[in-house]
Amino acid sequence: MQKQKTDWHAQAAAMQFDGRAFINGQRVAAQSGATFECLSPVDGRKLADAARCDAADVDAAVLAARAAFDDRRWAGLAPAARKRILIKFADLMLQHRDELALLETLDMGKPIKYSRSVDVPSAANCIRWYGEAVDKIYDEIAPTADTALALITREPVGVVAAIVPWNYPMLMASWKIAPALAAGNSVVLKPSEKSPLSALRLAEIALEAGIPAGVFNVVPGYGHEAGSALALHMDVDCIGFTGSTKVGKLILQYAGQSNLKRAWTELGGKSANIVCADCPDLDAAVRASIGSIYFNQGESCNAPSRLFVEESIKAEFLTRAVAMLPDFQSGDPLDEATVMGAIVDSIQLKTVLGYIESGQAEGAKLVFGGEQQRTESGGYYVAPTLFDEVKSSMKIAREEIFGPVLSVIGFTDLNDAIREANATAYGLQAAVWTADINKAIQTSRALRAGTVHVNCYDEDDITVPFGGVKQSGNGRDKSLHALEKYTELKTTWIRIG
Ligand code: NAD
Repeated sequence: MQKQKTDWHAQAAAMQFDGRAFINGQRVAAQSGATFECLSPVDGRKLADAARCDAADVDAAVLAARAAFDDRRWAGLAPAARKRILIKFADLMLQHRDELALLETLDMGKPIKYSRSVDVPSAANCIRWYGEAVDKIYDEIAPTADTALALITREPVGVVAAIVPWNYPMLMASWKIAPALAAGNSVVLKPSEKSPLSALRLAEIALEAGIPAGVFNVVPGYGHEAGSALALHMDVDCIGFTGSTKVGKLILQYAGQSNLKRAWTELGGKSANIVCADCPDLDAAVRASIGSIYFNQGESCNAPSRLFVEESIKAEFLTRAVAMLPDFQSGDPLDEATVMGAIVDSIQLKTVLGYIESGQAEGAKLVFGGEQQRTESGGYYVAPTLFDEVKSSMKIAREEIFGPVLSVIGFTDLNDAIREANATAYGLQAAVWTADINKAIQTSRALRAGTVHVNCYDEDDITVPFGGVKQSGNGRDKSLHALEKYTELKTTWIRIG
């Protein structure tokens, strides 16, 4: 029997939104009573008034998290017990899959097709994976002399602040909260002011799953208010930050200005994707390059926004790429056929259009797109945009645009392409396409990035670390390594008489 099509517009119209903070297991307004508007980029309509948390609310959340940590209501559970609760949390997220997907789409504009098939299941899988991992990790005994027994154990750091961006609100939150909670920490999460709704709903679902009150708190608010109060807080032990390089630098300063909390930063990118003439499958290279830059409206930290193509195949590559672009025209995010949705807000729309203007002004060749679309909707949409004849010195090749804009740069010597690929402040991801295994290995070694893809792009899973070098940050989300960020090593040296 054919599955009945979901009427997402009807579901959206019937949806109730709650923008209040979640502190100590309860929904609460900001102590000041202040709110800010959550506007949907889909059509500009107001979804909710969210609590505009400031230092007082952050204090309350940190106090609740500290109390929960100190009485060991969560940290003191056996890892197998935390596992069961985290798995239930993941199961409940999947039970609420349509609701969470719709919240994400309405709040930040991504197509429902992807929030339902990628964001919610990936976030739930992340929670489940760390839950499943945590009762399989052993501590160490050091190889000391017979006169001592030295235990090296991992302990939770205490109160973890998680500050996350708007491009994958639930997924970025889960990359922080899953390892932090699995390790036994308490968490205060500050979602982006552009997309706070799914994180708030997650906290309710976590409580329902059995995560005790006070262990997982969410404070919506602005970065310069709630965010800085959290990062400067003297009773926060660790901060997991994902966002821009500009704010990442502030986070490290706040840590130094306050209590030297450990600060992990996952920041911006300007990833290089190098396609050599001996690429084993040109169609696959075109599909992955185009699919990855326009996915999530180009609002991905690891978007391959600089495409280096060897001159001898560039014309053919572009012909095939441009033929695909009509399929990426922006559309109604609530239509399941749409692959590119709305830009998160009017500010980001202006930024993206500004970069497109700058590309044209600096002499890059606009091959496709470039214009705002669907203005009649009241939302914010930009056509998939492709520039050819881009020079690495141009602003569109140097700065993170965070929109659906691809810069194509030709090369004749691979060493030049590698040098230009590395000539950026960022170092998040990169790719090389070649049939020559030696060239693939040499190039991936030479590229300064946290991840290098070979003959693919954006293929990974929860088992591998995600993060960057240089000004793309200093930490790694995902994989067992993320647990290292949220645990401290303790030595217990026992004298044997
Ligand atoms: P942003 O830096 O503006 O904001 C990120 C978060 O920081 C938000 O919650 C914001 O409110 C908060 N914030 C802002 N100012 C603050 C301050 N002074 N003190 C404390 N917190 C503050 O970034 P954004 O626009 O939300 O997200 C886009 C950026 O995130 C891009 O640069 C993108 O590359 C990056 N990103 C990186 C990764 C990664 O894993 N490396 C993943 C996703 C997004």
